[in-house]
Amino acid sequence: MLRCNDCSRPVAARWPRCRWCRAVRHRPYGTEVAILDAWLDTLRNFGASLSLPLAGAAVGLYLDDQPLSAALLGLYAVLMLVSHLLLPWFALSWHVAQGLWGLGVLTSLGFITMGLAETAVFAALPVMVSVAMLKWRAPLLARLAGSTPEPKQAPRRPSRWGGCEVCGESNARVVAPVWCVSMLVVTTRWTGEFHRLCGHHALLRALPATLCSALVGWWGIPWGMFWTPLALYQNVVEGGVEEDPNQYDARVSADPLHGRWESYLPPMAMALGLLGIPFGLLVVMSKLGH
Ligand SMILES: [Zn+2]
Ligand SMILES: [Zn+2]
Repeated sequence: MLRCNDCSRPVAARWPRCRWCRAVRHRPYGTEVAILDAWLDTLRNFGASLSLPLAGAAVGLYLDDQPLSAALLGLYAVLMLVSHLLLPWFALSWHVAQGLWGLGVLTSLGFITMGLAETAVFAALPVMVSVAMLKWRAPLLARLAGSTPEPKQAPRRPSRWGGCEVCGESNARVVAPVWCVSMLVVTTRWTGEFHRLCGHHALLRALPATLCSALVGWWGIPWGMFWTPLALYQNVVEGGVEEDPNQYDARVSADPLHGRWESYLPPMAMALGLLGIPFGLLVVMSKLGH
């Protein structure tokens, strides 16, 4: 348990200041820490928003005259909600959440009588989350306990002076491709790596980002409609975006996740979890219709 330097009462690693004595905790907060916090927030948002459709399914079971299953699923949903909401702050809720996902894997194995394909569908989600939580267990639990990872060397930006990195043509600019990905109400944009390229090679280098944005950029309301054509224009016509390095450093110091795709994980996870709500509602409605 992490303790305050001033009043030695327990504090969470993420609290910017001690909740009890209001002492400011001076700790390094760089991109590495921000990425770990983004993953914790992602897990929190996903588990917490997924508990809502689960609660809906519990209501459906209750209306279907299965009070025992309804009570068990309802309890599971409440535990999911509470443990995930508290997850970025307390290591204990991490353990509870991990146990709940493991329980989800075991429960989905109970559907094996329905057939292998159905079992795979039920088990896929809890298995994926359980594997991810096992894989990231050490660094994320260390973060909850207050450790700060060593700051990595920032990626070196290519110098503005010189020819194209690929063909050496003298007319080259330092550009990065723009990625745009949407999901329902969330649209995300980030920039890839900066390289010094001529127009032709910038276009080639931006091709994956262009194709990806053209395919999955549109499907978000409202920003997908605006940002996707902008990203396509920037990638195809301008070969990517240029950024003033001084301005970039200022933005990173203001927001350690500036321009990184990890900053979009938490809202994406929430959208993904909430996707289950219409299905939960459908279940309840179909039961009410009987
Ligand atoms: Zn204190
Ligand atoms: Zn070139």
